Amino acid sequence: MTAALVPAERTVTPLGIDWVGWQNWLGEHIDPAWRPGEWNQDFWLFTGDLNSPRTTAVGCGTPHCRAILSSRGRCHSCTRAQEKSGLTWEEFEAQFVPSARPRGSDPALCEVVRDSVRCGRVSVGVTLCKGHYNKWRRHCREHGRRLPIAEWVDAFSIEPFPQPPECSVGGCPNRRISEKSPICNYHQRRWLEAGHKGTANTPQLRRWAAEQPPLLTAAQFSLVQLPSPLRQELAHGIQQRDELDSTMQPFAMRAIVSAALTTATTSLLLAADTLKKSMRTTDEKSVLRQLTWSVHQGYIAFSGHDLRGEDHFDPRAAGLKGATRSGRRKQFGSVDLTVIPQPWLRQVLKRRAEAEKPTGLAFRRWLRACVIAGHGMNRLPGGGIDSTTLDFAHMQAAFDEIAASVDKDGRLYGAGYRGDLWTAFCQTIDFGRLADLLDAPGSFMRRPSQRIPDEDTNEDELGKAVPEHVIRQLDVQLPSLGTGVTYGAMDPAHVRAMFQTAYVVLRDSGRRPLEVVSLPRNCLERERDEVSLIWNNHKRRRMRRRLPITSSTVAAIEKWQALRDSLPEAPSVSEPYLFPAITSAGGSDHLMSNNFSVGMRTWVDNLETLNSDAMDAEGNVIPFDRSLIYPYAFRHSFAQRHADAGTPIDVLREPHGPRRSKNDHGLLPGLTGTQAQGGQNTQPDGHRPARNRDTLLVDRLRTAVGGRAVRRLHRTDQRQSRRTRMPDPLPVLRLRVLPS
Ligand SMILES: [Zn+2]
Ligand SMILES: [Zn+2]
Ligand SMILES: [Zn+2]
Repeated sequence: MTAALVPAERTVTPLGIDWVGWQNWLGEHIDPAWRPGEWNQDFWLFTGDLNSPRTTAVGCGTPHCRAILSSRGRCHSCTRAQEKSGLTWEEFEAQFVPSARPRGSDPALCEVVRDSVRCGRVSVGVTLCKGHYNKWRRHCREHGRRLPIAEWVDAFSIEPFPQPPECSVGGCPNRRISEKSPICNYHQRRWLEAGHKGTANTPQLRRWAAEQPPLLTAAQFSLVQLPSPLRQELAHGIQQRDELDSTMQPFAMRAIVSAALTTATTSLLLAADTLKKSMRTTDEKSVLRQLTWSVHQGYIAFSGHDLRGEDHFDPRAAGLKGATRSGRRKQFGSVDLTVIPQPWLRQVLKRRAEAEKPTGLAFRRWLRACVIAGHGMNRLPGGGIDSTTLDFAHMQAAFDEIAASVDKDGRLYGAGYRGDLWTAFCQTIDFGRLADLLDAPGSFMRRPSQRIPDEDTNEDELGKAVPEHVIRQLDVQLPSLGTGVTYGAMDPAHVRAMFQTAYVVLRDSGRRPLEVVSLPRNCLERERDEVSLIWNNHKRRRMRRRLPITSSTVAAIEKWQALRDSLPEAPSVSEPYLFPAITSAGGSDHLMSNNFSVGMRTWVDNLETLNSDAMDAEGNVIPFDRSLIYPYAFRHSFAQRHADAGTPIDVLREPHGPRRSKNDHGLLPGLTGTQAQGGQNTQPDGHRPARNRDTLLVDRLRTAVGGRAVRRLHRTDQRQSRRTRMPDPLPVLRLRVLPS
């Protein structure tokens, strides 16, 4: 093997591949005796054995039909003909006449016979070989009539030609046209079709013939036309299929060879991506993945280097098990980890997979979790690329992104799946810390509040309300919310006003954070003396819902609306929204829940004091756990407030239509059916305890839910004195919105 075989433009590459060495290695790792009867190393030709279970090629179900299929059945033309004939398959098979010969194969021999010796050349068009035909025509012209062949042979003592040798194209079963020509009729046609002139036996023609495949059946493929080292790479790759327990797929191989020729691919080490794009069927894609995989494995064995780089993960080489019962991996190929924006996260994921060897299915989930979380962190300034700068905001961004992750149709993933993703991400981070792969600060840590509820319908039962006395402390310190938050080009005073308005709406309306940040610009609707908040329930896809709100909330919104109208720096995509986005290019047209939640977290964490209503043994007030304050918690507070006020549960709930879930009775946070069985109305002895405020509420709720039992409220929660402003008696009976 010499360097001349190597494509010139590839001899020096940025990857520093030793092409000559690589080809030598391949040469030593191709077995010329592989699959005798099917593989012909001299011609680089594979001829599938139609009876072999290791080759995916079978004959058409109609006996004598020449069609070859990739799976059992009838060929297209048989199916069509049988349908048209109206015959049963049995009748059809009985009358089936196969085509005379495969296209491109030699027709019958020349008709000239003398002394029982037949001319050995192949007839062209008519029934004579070319030499005899020309002679016969001349004689016919001279005699002025068409001479019958037998008569002509006798009259002119015509000698039959000896049989010429086989066509010089490797594997071609046809005869040469004559002793003088190196090729058969079929290949001569190909030679002329390729734009060559003349059919003389020149060195050029012989060189061309040496690189031609024979006329291929559907069960065959040839690598002879491919450049080196691609030809050797494919030969090595297909031989590896046996080791990997995969069948040979001549159909897919033909597609790969033909795509390699059109894309001028010279090596799978370099151009597998362009080739991959030309693949159409799943079989083609999967065979190419395996070939590429095997070639890369070979290259690693040859050079000790993986050209796919650090950001690739090879599940099979890492020993991951397939999801099948046998544990045999069906998929080949490496996973491109650059879909994760942060290089440190790619490495942690890769090392974890190598260490824990999950199933392919589990690995896909880990990868998905890291991709989604990575994109969440990537929205923050710096993108979370530098692991030493990670902090709470990144963890929150990762959580928010996973909590809001949707499928390709834009539907929220099931809570169970999102929960799995979140767990997978957190465990990956934990692994990174334990394995000393991650030098992130301690503030980059999940918080107890970052939990994805088990069931969508149960979300309101989980998580705790922010107690009203804490809300009062927050209200007092509200003017500092939004301080220090950079928000695109927006003036700091405007940023504060926006965050504070969003807080007021969140606190007073009990809408979900996303519903608040995506409020329409004209979100107030007046009817007589009542004002409603117009909001969109993204979760259940119910748009333009109405919620009566109090005058203080209305005032806060109106104040912001006036300011909003004068904002010069709001991006145009945010035109329809009350709270504008940072830029037009951020992926969201309005303020993102994540930005709001980070702003709130910063604010709460920096408050001077925030006390609980409990005292320690020495009589000191215990500080309130600030991690319990996050946007969603205000929705719980809102629901709690209404429960305390005795708002009937069914007017709090948004009608579900026909989709009533098993948790209907639990739709009000803190109220589930289980604990209320029997309640406290009736003791076993039939004695009715003194009615207090709690039992009255339970009774009222019970009436409201049609006699179903409801749980008493937590004493700690219900003992909170009520907010004076909320909920005013005003809208109670018209409320029919929470929680949906
Ligand atoms: Zn057929
Ligand atoms: Zn002849
Ligand atoms: Zn030929």
